[in-house]
Amino acid sequence: MVLPLAYYGNPVLREKGAQVKSVTPEIAQLIKDMFKTMEDFRGIGLAAHQVGTAIQLTVIDIRSVEDLPSTLELGGEEVDPHSIMPFVLINPTITPLNDPVKGPEGCLSFPEIFGDISRPDKVSVKALDRLGEPFEFVCSGLLARCVQHETDHLHGILFIDRMDRETKSDLREDLAVLQEKTKATLAEQ
Ligand code: ZN
Repeated sequence: MVLPLAYYGNPVLREKGAQVKSVTPEIAQLIKDMFKTMEDFRGIGLAAHQVGTAIQLTVIDIRSVEDLPSTLELGGEEVDPHSIMPFVLINPTITPLNDPVKGPEGCLSFPEIFGDISRPDKVSVKALDRLGEPFEFVCSGLLARCVQHETDHLHGILFIDRMDRETKSDLREDLAVLQEKTKATLAEQ
């Protein structure tokens, strides 16, 4: 089932996500619905917060972006990043492995709003997979950016929080309009 999205201005996006203790049938169903929702909205990542549930769960599928490369090392072996897509991260923790670089980002909770964000280009990630089994990987490029963006969501951090002042000030009006629209929609419900 495609779930409704939480847009900027919805307080759920600012909540700190609870750790997922185990992959219950409800969580397994949520993962299925999040895959479907991400696909439907043509996203490359979706956090549980964005479908109204503040828990540390995110789904990722970068296959639709062809012009921004990624690398992936699983168990010390370089593998094709596409081979694990779509995938799930539960309770992820991230260790940066190099300096931040600027790159373009958008977010399904901010339709039509884009900006350059600085993030480390290479990170090491520890998480649980969709079965609740621990796994680790090292990634770079778009995949590293996406993993960091989604993990931020799980802690109530949004990509606009990481924009430089100039970029954010250019978007100020668009952000205010979106926030008001979201609040008005929520008030009607
Ligand atoms: Zn996002």
